[in-house]
Amino acid sequence: MKNISVKKKITILLTMLMGFLACLLLGYMLVISSSVAERTATEQLLQTVRHNTEHLEVKDGRPEVGEAFDYYQNGVTTLIYSKKESLIAGQLPVSFTSVIGFENGVIRKADAGKMEYIILDMWIPSDWSDGVWLRGMIEAPDNKLLVKNLLMISLVALPVFMLLAALGSYHIARRSFRPLEAITATAEAINEAKDLSGRIGLPPGNDEFSRLAGDFDQMFERLERSFEAEKQFTADASHELRTPVSIIKGACEYAEKYDETPEDHQETISMIYRQADKMAKLISRLLSMTRMEQGTEKIRMERIELGSLAKEICKEEMWDLDQLEVEAQQDIFVNADTELLGRLLRNLVENAFKYGKANGHVWVRVTKDKEEAQLSVRDDGIGIPEAEQEKIWRRFYQVDTARSDGEGTGLGLSMVRQIAGIHDGYMTLDSKPGEGSIFTLHLPLG
Ligand code: ADP
Repeated sequence: MKNISVKKKITILLTMLMGFLACLLLGYMLVISSSVAERTATEQLLQTVRHNTEHLEVKDGRPEVGEAFDYYQNGVTTLIYSKKESLIAGQLPVSFTSVIGFENGVIRKADAGKMEYIILDMWIPSDWSDGVWLRGMIEAPDNKLLVKNLLMISLVALPVFMLLAALGSYHIARRSFRPLEAITATAEAINEAKDLSGRIGLPPGNDEFSRLAGDFDQMFERLERSFEAEKQFTADASHELRTPVSIIKGACEYAEKYDETPEDHQETISMIYRQADKMAKLISRLLSMTRMEQGTEKIRMERIELGSLAKEICKEEMWDLDQLEVEAQQDIFVNADTELLGRLLRNLVENAFKYGKANGHVWVRVTKDKEEAQLSVRDDGIGIPEAEQEKIWRRFYQVDTARSDGEGTGLGLSMVRQIAGIHDGYMTLDSKPGEGSIFTLHLPLG
Protein backbone atom coordinates (compact mmCIF):
# COMPACT_ATOMS: atom_id res chain seq x y z
CA MET A 1 0.00 0.00 0.00
CA LYS A 2 3.02 2.24 0.71
CA ASN A 3 4.11 2.28 -2.92
CA ILE A 4 0.68 3.09 -4.30
CA SER A 5 0.23 6.71 -5.30
CA VAL A 6 -2.16 8.88 -3.30
CA LYS A 7 -4.32 9.23 -6.42
CA LYS A 8 -4.78 5.45 -6.61
CA LYS A 9 -5.38 5.18 -2.89
CA ILE A 10 -8.14 7.77 -3.12
CA THR A 11 -9.63 5.99 -6.15
CA ILE A 12 -9.69 2.63 -4.35
CA LEU A 13 -11.16 4.17 -1.22
CA LEU A 14 -13.87 6.07 -3.08
CA THR A 15 -14.76 3.04 -5.23
CA MET A 16 -15.05 0.83 -2.17
CA LEU A 17 -17.17 3.43 -0.46
CA MET A 18 -19.42 3.74 -3.50
CA GLY A 19 -19.73 -0.08 -3.71
CA PHE A 20 -20.66 -0.26 -0.05
CA LEU A 21 -23.23 2.50 -0.52
CA ALA A 22 -24.67 0.76 -3.59
CA CYS A 23 -25.07 -2.52 -1.64
CA LEU A 24 -26.68 -0.63 1.23
CA LEU A 25 -29.06 1.03 -1.22
CA LEU A 26 -29.99 -2.29 -2.84
CA GLY A 27 -30.70 -3.83 0.57
CA TYR A 28 -32.85 -0.87 1.49
CA MET A 29 -34.71 -1.10 -1.83
CA LEU A 30 -35.35 -4.78 -1.18
CA VAL A 31 -36.86 -4.16 2.25
CA ILE A 32 -38.93 -1.19 1.06
CA SER A 33 -40.24 -2.84 -2.09
CA SER A 34 -41.26 -6.06 -0.31
CA SER A 35 -43.10 -4.10 2.35
CA VAL A 36 -44.74 -1.85 -0.26
CA ALA A 37 -45.85 -4.87 -2.31
CA GLU A 38 -47.36 -6.50 0.76
CA ARG A 39 -49.12 -3.29 1.78
CA THR A 40 -50.58 -2.88 -1.73
CA ALA A 41 -51.83 -6.48 -1.77
CA THR A 42 -53.45 -6.06 1.65
CA GLU A 43 -55.06 -2.80 0.53
CA GLN A 44 -56.53 -4.48 -2.53
CA LEU A 45 -57.81 -7.38 -0.42
CA LEU A 46 -59.48 -5.02 2.05
CA GLN A 47 -61.15 -2.96 -0.67
CA THR A 48 -62.47 -5.99 -2.54
CA VAL A 49 -63.78 -7.70 0.61
CA ARG A 50 -65.45 -4.46 1.73
CA HIS A 51 -67.02 -4.02 -1.73
CA ASN A 52 -68.28 -7.61 -1.91
CA THR A 53 -69.65 -7.53 1.65
CA GLU A 54 -71.88 -4.62 0.63
CA HIS A 55 -73.30 -6.68 -2.25
CA LEU A 56 -73.99 -9.91 -0.38
CA GLU A 57 -77.14 -10.79 1.55
CA VAL A 58 -78.23 -14.02 3.22
CA LYS A 59 -81.84 -15.00 2.69
CA ASP A 60 -83.25 -18.24 4.15
CA GLY A 61 -79.73 -19.36 4.93
CA ARG A 62 -78.64 -18.89 1.27
CA PRO A 63 -76.29 -16.21 0.00
CA GLU A 64 -77.61 -13.81 -2.59
CA VAL A 65 -75.03 -11.77 -4.48
CA GLY A 66 -75.73 -8.47 -6.23
CA GLU A 67 -74.61 -7.63 -9.74
CA ALA A 68 -71.60 -5.68 -8.56
CA PHE A 69 -70.32 -8.66 -6.60
CA ASP A 70 -66.98 -9.88 -8.02
CA TYR A 71 -65.61 -13.35 -7.35
CA TYR A 72 -62.30 -12.34 -8.86
CA GLN A 73 -61.06 -8.75 -8.95
CA ASN A 74 -57.54 -7.21 -8.88
CA GLY A 75 -55.97 -10.53 -7.96
CA VAL A 76 -58.37 -11.04 -5.06
CA THR A 77 -60.41 -14.27 -5.08
CA THR A 78 -63.67 -14.18 -3.15
CA LEU A 79 -65.32 -17.31 -1.79
CA ILE A 80 -68.51 -17.90 0.16
CA TYR A 81 -68.63 -20.61 2.81
CA SER A 82 -71.49 -21.96 4.93
CA LYS A 83 -71.45 -21.70 8.69
CA LYS A 84 -70.07 -25.24 8.69
CA GLU A 85 -67.19 -24.00 6.53
CA SER A 86 -68.08 -25.81 3.33
CA LEU A 87 -67.62 -23.88 0.08
CA ILE A 88 -70.92 -22.60 -1.34
CA ALA A 89 -69.78 -20.24 -4.09
CA GLY A 90 -66.58 -19.16 -5.77
CA GLN A 91 -63.56 -20.97 -7.22
CA LEU A 92 -60.66 -21.87 -4.94
CA PRO A 93 -57.31 -21.11 -6.64
CA VAL A 94 -55.56 -24.25 -7.82
CA SER A 95 -52.46 -23.49 -5.82
CA PHE A 96 -54.51 -23.20 -2.62
CA THR A 97 -54.32 -26.72 -1.25
CA SER A 98 -54.63 -26.27 2.51
CA VAL A 99 -57.67 -26.06 4.75
CA ILE A 100 -57.59 -22.94 6.87
CA GLY A 101 -60.02 -22.14 9.66
CA PHE A 102 -62.08 -18.90 9.76
CA GLU A 103 -61.45 -15.83 11.90
CA ASN A 104 -63.81 -12.89 11.58
CA GLY A 105 -62.26 -9.59 10.35
CA VAL A 106 -58.60 -10.62 10.85
CA ILE A 107 -56.12 -10.08 8.07
CA ARG A 108 -53.56 -12.89 8.23
CA LYS A 109 -51.09 -14.76 6.17
CA ALA A 110 -51.70 -18.39 5.44
CA ASP A 111 -49.41 -20.96 3.99
CA ALA A 112 -51.48 -22.68 1.37
CA GLY A 113 -49.13 -25.30 0.08
CA LYS A 114 -46.88 -23.92 -2.64
CA MET A 115 -47.90 -20.31 -2.14
CA GLU A 116 -48.48 -17.92 0.67
CA TYR A 117 -51.82 -16.08 0.77
CA ILE A 118 -53.16 -13.08 2.60
CA ILE A 119 -56.63 -13.88 3.83
CA LEU A 120 -59.51 -11.88 5.25
CA ASP A 121 -62.75 -13.57 6.45
CA MET A 122 -65.98 -11.73 7.19
CA TRP A 123 -69.00 -13.31 8.91
CA ILE A 124 -72.22 -12.22 7.15
CA PRO A 125 -75.05 -12.77 9.61
CA SER A 126 -78.73 -13.30 8.83
CA ASP A 127 -81.77 -12.31 10.92
CA TRP A 128 -83.79 -15.53 10.56
CA SER A 129 -81.25 -18.17 9.75
CA ASP A 130 -77.52 -18.95 9.93
CA GLY A 131 -75.16 -16.52 8.23
CA VAL A 132 -72.30 -17.29 5.80
CA TRP A 133 -68.54 -16.68 5.67
CA LEU A 134 -67.12 -14.43 2.98
CA ARG A 135 -63.43 -15.12 2.40
CA GLY A 136 -61.14 -12.89 0.34
CA MET A 137 -57.65 -14.10 -0.53
CA ILE A 138 -54.75 -12.73 -2.51
CA GLU A 139 -51.35 -14.19 -3.24
CA ALA A 140 -48.71 -12.76 -0.87
CA PRO A 141 -45.89 -11.06 -2.84
CA ASP A 142 -43.05 -13.50 -3.44
CA ASN A 143 -40.00 -12.06 -1.58
CA LYS A 144 -37.73 -14.75 -2.91
CA LEU A 145 -38.56 -13.70 -6.44
CA LEU A 146 -37.94 -10.07 -5.53
CA VAL A 147 -34.54 -10.94 -4.06
CA LYS A 148 -33.71 -13.00 -7.12
CA ASN A 149 -34.65 -10.16 -9.47
CA LEU A 150 -32.72 -7.60 -7.48
CA LEU A 151 -29.69 -9.88 -7.35
CA MET A 152 -29.86 -10.32 -11.11
CA ILE A 153 -30.00 -6.56 -11.59
CA SER A 154 -27.14 -6.10 -9.10
CA LEU A 155 -24.97 -8.61 -10.87
CA VAL A 156 -25.15 -6.58 -14.05
CA ALA A 157 -25.47 -3.09 -12.62
CA LEU A 158 -22.96 -3.28 -9.75
CA PRO A 159 -19.83 -3.96 -11.82
CA VAL A 160 -20.82 -1.22 -14.27
CA PHE A 161 -21.52 1.14 -11.38
CA MET A 162 -18.23 0.25 -9.65
CA LEU A 163 -16.34 0.78 -12.88
CA LEU A 164 -17.97 4.17 -13.37
CA ALA A 165 -17.28 5.02 -9.72
CA ALA A 166 -13.61 4.04 -10.13
CA LEU A 167 -13.24 6.09 -13.32
CA GLY A 168 -15.04 9.07 -11.76
CA SER A 169 -12.95 8.88 -8.57
CA TYR A 170 -9.72 8.62 -10.54
CA HIS A 171 -10.74 11.59 -12.67
CA ILE A 172 -11.59 13.68 -9.58
CA ALA A 173 -8.37 12.64 -7.81
CA ARG A 174 -6.33 13.47 -10.90
CA ARG A 175 -7.97 16.86 -11.29
CA SER A 176 -7.54 17.65 -7.61
CA PHE A 177 -3.89 16.64 -7.65
CA ARG A 178 -3.02 18.56 -10.80
CA PRO A 179 -1.90 21.66 -8.83
CA LEU A 180 0.31 19.44 -6.69
CA GLU A 181 1.88 18.02 -9.85
CA ALA A 182 2.48 21.58 -11.06
CA ILE A 183 4.14 22.42 -7.72
CA THR A 184 6.35 19.32 -7.90
CA ALA A 185 7.26 19.99 -11.55
CA THR A 186 8.18 23.62 -10.81
CA ALA A 187 10.23 22.66 -7.76
CA GLU A 188 12.04 19.98 -9.78
CA ALA A 189 12.67 22.37 -12.68
CA ILE A 190 14.09 24.96 -10.28
CA ASN A 191 16.22 22.32 -8.64
CA GLU A 192 17.55 20.91 -11.91
CA ALA A 193 18.11 24.18 -13.75
CA LYS A 194 19.10 26.11 -10.61
CA ASP A 195 16.94 28.87 -12.04
CA LEU A 196 14.77 30.52 -9.46
CA SER A 197 12.61 32.44 -11.90
CA GLY A 198 10.12 29.57 -12.41
CA ARG A 199 6.64 29.98 -10.89
CA ILE A 200 3.70 27.61 -10.50
CA GLY A 201 1.32 30.36 -11.54
CA LEU A 202 -2.01 28.79 -10.55
CA PRO A 203 -5.02 31.12 -10.80
CA PRO A 204 -5.85 32.37 -7.31
CA GLY A 205 -8.42 30.28 -5.46
CA ASN A 206 -9.49 29.46 -1.97
CA ASP A 207 -8.79 25.73 -1.93
CA GLU A 208 -5.80 24.25 -0.13
CA PHE A 209 -3.78 23.60 -3.30
CA SER A 210 -4.23 27.11 -4.70
CA ARG A 211 -3.14 28.53 -1.37
CA LEU A 212 -0.19 26.15 -1.23
CA ALA A 213 0.81 27.06 -4.80
CA GLY A 214 0.48 30.77 -3.91
CA ASP A 215 2.67 30.26 -0.83
CA PHE A 216 5.24 28.39 -2.91
CA ASP A 217 5.29 31.16 -5.52
CA GLN A 218 5.82 33.70 -2.77
CA MET A 219 8.60 31.56 -1.38
CA PHE A 220 10.26 31.27 -4.81
CA GLU A 221 9.88 35.02 -5.21
CA ARG A 222 11.57 35.67 -1.89
CA LEU A 223 14.26 33.11 -2.60
CA GLU A 224 14.96 34.66 -5.98
CA ARG A 225 15.07 38.16 -4.53
CA SER A 226 17.31 37.03 -1.75
CA PHE A 227 19.71 35.25 -4.16
CA GLU A 228 19.72 38.24 -6.48
CA ALA A 229 20.36 40.58 -3.55
CA GLU A 230 23.19 38.36 -2.35
CA LYS A 231 24.72 38.27 -5.82
CA GLN A 232 24.37 42.04 -6.13
CA PHE A 233 25.79 42.54 -2.66
CA THR A 234 28.84 40.43 -3.38
CA ALA A 235 29.47 42.17 -6.69
CA ASP A 236 28.91 45.69 -5.32
CA ALA A 237 30.80 45.13 -2.12
CA SER A 238 33.87 43.62 -3.75
CA HIS A 239 33.91 46.35 -6.38
CA GLU A 240 33.50 49.24 -3.96
CA LEU A 241 35.78 47.88 -1.28
CA ARG A 242 38.60 47.42 -3.75
CA THR A 243 39.14 51.20 -4.04
CA PRO A 244 39.74 52.06 -0.36
CA VAL A 245 41.74 48.85 0.11
CA SER A 246 44.08 49.73 -2.76
CA ILE A 247 44.36 53.32 -1.46
CA ILE A 248 45.32 51.99 1.99
CA LYS A 249 47.80 49.55 0.46
CA GLY A 250 49.33 52.26 -1.73
CA ALA A 251 49.56 54.69 1.20
CA CYS A 252 51.31 52.06 3.32
CA GLU A 253 53.82 51.25 0.57
CA TYR A 254 54.50 54.94 0.00
CA ALA A 255 54.90 55.63 3.72
CA GLU A 256 57.30 52.72 4.07
CA LYS A 257 59.52 54.13 1.36
CA TYR A 258 59.19 57.88 1.58
CA ASP A 259 57.59 59.05 4.86
CA GLU A 260 60.28 60.49 7.01
CA THR A 261 58.89 63.05 9.39
CA PRO A 262 56.18 62.48 12.06
CA GLU A 263 53.99 64.89 10.03
CA ASP A 264 54.28 62.58 6.99
CA HIS A 265 53.26 59.62 9.16
CA GLN A 266 50.37 61.56 10.66
CA GLU A 267 49.10 62.44 7.20
CA THR A 268 49.28 58.83 6.03
CA ILE A 269 47.53 57.61 9.18
CA SER A 270 44.72 60.15 8.66
CA MET A 271 44.28 58.97 5.09
CA ILE A 272 44.19 55.32 6.16
CA TYR A 273 41.71 56.24 8.91
CA ARG A 274 39.45 58.03 6.43
CA GLN A 275 39.51 55.11 4.01
CA ALA A 276 38.89 52.56 6.78
CA ASP A 277 36.02 54.70 8.00
CA LYS A 278 34.57 54.75 4.50
CA MET A 279 34.91 50.99 4.29
CA ALA A 280 33.15 50.53 7.61
CA LYS A 281 30.34 52.85 6.51
CA LEU A 282 30.07 51.05 3.20
CA ILE A 283 29.89 47.62 4.78
CA SER A 284 27.33 48.65 7.36
CA ARG A 285 25.12 50.37 4.75
CA LEU A 286 25.36 47.48 2.34
CA LEU A 287 24.48 45.04 5.07
CA SER A 288 21.53 47.03 6.27
CA MET A 289 20.23 47.54 2.71
CA THR A 290 20.57 43.87 1.93
CA ARG A 291 18.75 42.96 5.13
CA MET A 292 15.94 45.36 4.25
CA GLU A 293 15.76 43.88 0.79
CA GLN A 294 15.64 40.34 2.10
CA GLY A 295 13.13 41.30 4.76
CA THR A 296 15.43 40.12 7.55
CA GLU A 297 15.90 43.59 9.04
CA LYS A 298 13.86 43.79 12.25
CA ILE A 299 11.22 46.41 11.62
CA ARG A 300 9.06 47.65 14.48
CA MET A 301 6.24 49.83 13.21
CA GLU A 302 4.65 52.11 15.79
CA ARG A 303 2.47 55.19 15.76
CA ILE A 304 4.79 58.15 16.19
CA GLU A 305 4.52 61.91 16.16
CA LEU A 306 6.74 62.86 13.23
CA GLY A 307 7.60 66.41 14.41
CA SER A 308 8.85 65.26 17.81
CA LEU A 309 10.94 62.49 16.23
CA ALA A 310 12.56 64.94 13.78
CA LYS A 311 13.36 67.41 16.59
CA GLU A 312 14.75 64.66 18.81
CA ILE A 313 17.09 63.34 16.10
CA CYS A 314 18.37 66.82 15.21
CA LYS A 315 19.08 67.42 18.89
CA GLU A 316 20.82 64.06 19.38
CA GLU A 317 23.11 64.52 16.41
CA MET A 318 24.42 67.81 17.76
CA TRP A 319 24.38 69.43 14.35
CA ASP A 320 25.23 73.08 14.31
CA LEU A 321 21.96 74.69 15.31
CA ASP A 322 23.06 78.03 13.91
CA GLN A 323 22.92 76.41 10.51
CA LEU A 324 20.05 73.98 11.06
CA GLU A 325 16.47 75.05 11.53
CA VAL A 326 13.71 72.62 12.49
CA GLU A 327 10.11 73.58 11.96
CA ALA A 328 7.41 71.02 12.73
CA GLN A 329 3.63 71.10 12.70
CA GLN A 330 2.24 69.35 15.73
CA ASP A 331 0.16 66.17 15.88
CA ILE A 332 1.18 64.63 12.61
CA PHE A 333 1.13 60.91 13.27
CA VAL A 334 2.56 58.17 11.09
CA ASN A 335 3.24 54.46 11.44
CA ALA A 336 6.96 54.05 11.29
CA ASP A 337 10.07 52.40 12.61
CA THR A 338 11.88 55.14 14.55
CA GLU A 339 15.31 53.60 13.94
CA LEU A 340 14.80 53.50 10.15
CA LEU A 341 13.25 56.99 9.97
CA GLY A 342 16.22 58.25 12.02
CA ARG A 343 18.60 56.70 9.50
CA LEU A 344 16.71 58.37 6.65
CA LEU A 345 16.72 61.83 8.26
CA ARG A 346 20.39 61.60 9.24
CA ASN A 347 21.35 60.74 5.67
CA LEU A 348 19.39 63.65 4.22
CA VAL A 349 20.69 66.21 6.74
CA GLU A 350 24.28 64.99 6.43
CA ASN A 351 24.03 65.27 2.63
CA ALA A 352 22.50 68.73 2.99
CA PHE A 353 25.53 69.80 5.07
CA LYS A 354 27.96 67.96 2.84
CA TYR A 355 26.67 69.48 -0.39
CA GLY A 356 25.56 72.77 1.13
CA LYS A 357 27.61 75.92 0.77
CA ALA A 358 30.00 77.06 3.47
CA ASN A 359 28.02 78.76 6.25
CA GLY A 360 24.84 77.85 4.40
CA HIS A 361 21.59 76.76 5.94
CA VAL A 362 19.64 73.54 6.29
CA TRP A 363 15.92 73.46 7.02
CA VAL A 364 14.04 70.42 8.32
CA ARG A 365 10.25 70.73 8.01
CA VAL A 366 7.39 68.50 9.06
CA THR A 367 4.02 69.31 7.47
CA LYS A 368 0.78 67.71 6.41
CA ASP A 369 -0.80 67.79 2.99
CA LYS A 370 -4.23 66.21 2.43
CA GLU A 371 -3.78 62.56 3.37
CA GLU A 372 -0.02 62.47 3.80
CA ALA A 373 2.70 63.59 6.15
CA GLN A 374 5.76 65.25 4.68
CA LEU A 375 9.26 65.43 6.08
CA SER A 376 11.53 67.66 4.00
CA VAL A 377 15.18 68.61 4.20
CA ARG A 378 16.17 71.73 2.30
CA ASP A 379 19.61 73.22 1.74
CA ASP A 380 20.91 76.23 -0.09
CA GLY A 381 23.88 74.36 -1.53
CA ILE A 382 25.15 73.34 -4.93
CA GLY A 383 21.96 71.64 -6.09
CA ILE A 384 21.71 68.76 -8.53
CA PRO A 385 21.53 69.09 -12.32
CA GLU A 386 18.21 67.89 -13.76
CA ALA A 387 19.86 65.12 -15.78
CA GLU A 388 21.27 63.64 -12.58
CA GLN A 389 18.14 63.85 -10.47
CA GLU A 390 16.82 60.39 -11.39
CA LYS A 391 20.24 58.73 -11.16
CA ILE A 392 21.22 59.82 -7.66
CA TRP A 393 18.83 57.22 -6.15
CA ARG A 394 20.79 54.36 -7.71
CA ARG A 395 23.24 52.33 -5.68
CA PHE A 396 26.79 53.70 -5.69
CA TYR A 397 25.83 56.58 -7.94
CA GLN A 398 27.63 59.81 -7.18
CA VAL A 399 27.18 62.94 -9.24
CA ASP A 400 30.78 63.90 -8.82
CA THR A 401 33.11 62.11 -6.41
CA ALA A 402 35.10 65.28 -5.93
CA ARG A 403 31.99 66.85 -4.37
CA SER A 404 32.20 64.62 -1.29
CA ASP A 405 35.98 64.65 -0.94
CA GLY A 406 35.97 60.99 -1.95
CA GLU A 407 34.26 60.07 1.31
CA GLY A 408 30.80 59.41 0.00
CA THR A 409 29.64 55.88 -0.67
CA GLY A 410 26.84 56.60 -3.11
CA LEU A 411 24.57 54.40 -1.00
CA GLY A 412 22.85 56.99 1.19
CA LEU A 413 20.00 58.01 -1.12
CA SER A 414 19.33 54.51 -2.36
CA MET A 415 18.90 53.50 1.30
CA VAL A 416 16.68 56.56 1.89
CA ARG A 417 14.40 55.50 -0.95
CA GLN A 418 14.32 51.92 0.32
CA ILE A 419 13.29 53.09 3.81
CA ALA A 420 10.54 55.28 2.30
CA GLY A 421 9.23 52.23 0.40
CA ILE A 422 9.21 50.07 3.53
CA HIS A 423 6.89 52.68 5.08
CA ASP A 424 4.58 52.71 2.03
CA GLY A 425 5.89 56.16 1.24
CA TYR A 426 8.01 57.73 -1.48
CA MET A 427 10.70 60.39 -2.00
CA THR A 428 10.59 63.47 -4.17
CA LEU A 429 13.35 65.89 -5.06
CA ASP A 430 13.17 69.50 -6.03
CA SER A 431 16.58 70.91 -6.88
CA LYS A 432 18.21 73.67 -8.88
CA PRO A 433 21.96 73.83 -9.47
CA GLY A 434 23.44 76.73 -7.55
CA GLU A 435 20.28 77.30 -5.51
CA GLY A 436 19.85 74.20 -3.40
CA SER A 437 17.79 71.06 -3.04
CA ILE A 438 14.67 69.91 -1.21
CA PHE A 439 14.39 66.21 -0.48
CA THR A 440 10.87 65.29 0.73
CA LEU A 441 9.63 62.08 2.29
CA HIS A 442 5.88 61.50 1.77
CA LEU A 443 4.23 59.14 4.24
CA PRO A 444 0.65 58.00 4.67
CA LEU A 445 -0.89 59.40 7.88
CA GLY A 446 -1.07 56.87 10.68
P1 ADP B 1 27.03 59.95 -1.13
O1 ADP B 1 27.60 59.01 -0.17
O2 ADP B 1 27.88 60.17 -2.32
O3 ADP B 1 26.58 61.22 -0.50
P2 ADP B 1 24.25 59.57 -1.65
O4 ADP B 1 23.54 58.39 -2.16
O5 ADP B 1 23.85 60.07 -0.31
O6 ADP B 1 25.78 59.19 -1.69
O7 ADP B 1 24.08 60.69 -2.72
C1 ADP B 1 24.27 60.41 -4.06
C2 ADP B 1 24.73 61.65 -4.80
O8 ADP B 1 23.70 62.62 -4.82
C3 ADP B 1 25.89 62.33 -4.11
O9 ADP B 1 27.08 61.84 -4.59
C4 ADP B 1 25.69 63.80 -4.45
O10 ADP B 1 26.37 64.11 -5.64
C5 ADP B 1 24.21 63.93 -4.69
N1 ADP B 1 23.55 64.61 -3.57
C6 ADP B 1 22.97 64.03 -2.53
N2 ADP B 1 22.42 64.95 -1.70
C7 ADP B 1 22.67 66.14 -2.24
C8 ADP B 1 22.37 67.46 -1.87
N3 ADP B 1 21.70 67.77 -0.76
N4 ADP B 1 22.81 68.47 -2.67
C9 ADP B 1 23.48 68.17 -3.80
N5 ADP B 1 23.78 66.94 -4.21
C10 ADP B 1 23.40 65.93 -3.44
